[in-house]
Amino acid sequence: EVGETDYDLIIIGSGPGGYVCALRAAQLGLKVACVEKRATLGGTCLNIGCIPSKALLQSSENFHEAATGFAAHGIIIGEVKLDLARMHARKAEVVGANVKGVEFLFKKNGVTWLKGAGRISAANTVEVSGEGGAKSFRAKSIVIATGSDSISLPGLAIDEKQIVSSTGALELESVPKHLVVIGGGVIGLELGSVWMRLGAKVTVIEYLDRLVPGIDGEVAKAFERVLSKQGMKFKLGHKVIKVETSDAGAVVTVEKAKGGTSETIEADIVLVAVGRRAVTDGLGLAEIGVALDEKGRVKTDGHYATSVAGIYAIGDVIDGPMLAHKAEDEGVALAEMLVGQAGHVNYGVIPAVIYTWPEVAGIGRIEEDLKAEGVDYKVGKFPFSANGRARAMNSTDGFVKILADRKTDRLLGAHILGPDAGTLIAELATAMEFGASAEDVARICHAHPTLNEAVKEAALATEGRALHV
Ligand code: FAD
Repeated sequence: EVGETDYDLIIIGSGPGGYVCALRAAQLGLKVACVEKRATLGGTCLNIGCIPSKALLQSSENFHEAATGFAAHGIIIGEVKLDLARMHARKAEVVGANVKGVEFLFKKNGVTWLKGAGRISAANTVEVSGEGGAKSFRAKSIVIATGSDSISLPGLAIDEKQIVSSTGALELESVPKHLVVIGGGVIGLELGSVWMRLGAKVTVIEYLDRLVPGIDGEVAKAFERVLSKQGMKFKLGHKVIKVETSDAGAVVTVEKAKGGTSETIEADIVLVAVGRRAVTDGLGLAEIGVALDEKGRVKTDGHYATSVAGIYAIGDVIDGPMLAHKAEDEGVALAEMLVGQAGHVNYGVIPAVIYTWPEVAGIGRIEEDLKAEGVDYKVGKFPFSANGRARAMNSTDGFVKILADRKTDRLLGAHILGPDAGTLIAELATAMEFGASAEDVARICHAHPTLNEAVKEAALATEGRALHV
């Protein structure tokens, strides 16, 4: 039995959920520790997720532009060569700067990093197993922020060499001749884009008849066309039966999702990107009575409280979109609630972005859902082909789509396929957070020439009065 309370708050996991919760709680005057078993802080996102993938997306886009895009601007260079080792080294530098940044912020804010694997061993007690053995610490509150892990298909073993998860796909030592991606979701398409730009043939196999379930269907269809134009191959409505590996490579057997004859596809590398699951193993949750939901996530009450008093959970380990900024905002909200403030996350206004080029970004409701619910809505669309800045950038694929309530004009959702869509969506996030109407957005003076003018025009288009089409 351990003595007095060591901390006000112990957080297990230092991903965007955990580390941001730690920083906010420390700002608010709590004595905070964060348990992390990985050698560096920052979780999936900083180490093997958002940050290394964006580093490779940027590098591969630069390579691809130099090889295929510069000539159109009148820039003639010699043969463009790839130094993949340097590209990976730069990615590691970017990751290193970010994870060290979190360590610096912990020190600056007086947050203690308890190194090792955490387990809730008794009420208000976390046992940390690290290099020096196991040690227990007491806390008034405990937060589970253990995140998520990639999953595979039944019978498909990930070896991180020929059959890789996103983690292996971020580390390939050479450009595969043929990369087969299982799963047409965000991670599969981003990493597929990376290797396609560096020269791989990429084939995406998706069980459903469309890409990225959950995003607006019209945008998904246009996105599929754009990626096809770039050279990505799709086998939609197909399921993987088996993957066999040998020294010669991998053979993927697929079949139509509805059944039928099977066919085989040869690949050097197979990326399995079929989803992620909450990490709850080894935490002692069953023993202490923390309930999980039907998908194996920690069950919370809407205020991040679990079924056990004093234990909370945030981020990928609970329900909701598995996104870093969602985890961060939950971390802030929970820290504020723990000191009696009114922490809050507006789940209706969380942007989701796919960092391909062009990018895809969406926020709020999708058209299918509004239709299904019988909401009286209107649509405004504006293509980037009619936007001066997009033309100047030579990046005219895509459009802005705005959904607004027909009677009140209130913004209900916004979806963008286009250059820098992930940045553009922030304007609409701000507008929606303030309960804006489409007309509010349309009347704001937008600088010319900017990509954001396409947002203004789409808002005007909800009333059929876009100016530049
Ligand atoms: P995590 O980041 O998963 O962190 C959990 C941490 O807890 C880990 O470091 C783990 O080691 C630690 N931990 C687990 N159990 C224990 C234990 N018992 N003791 C001690 N420590 C423990 N999201 C975006 O918003 N934008 C993106 O661009 C994006 N890109 C992605 C790309 C890839 C390839 C992947 C895989 C994910 C991406 N995501 C992206 C998702 C994003 O990474 C997650 O939503 C986010 O990391 C969730 O944060 P978290 O704090 O809940 O958990």
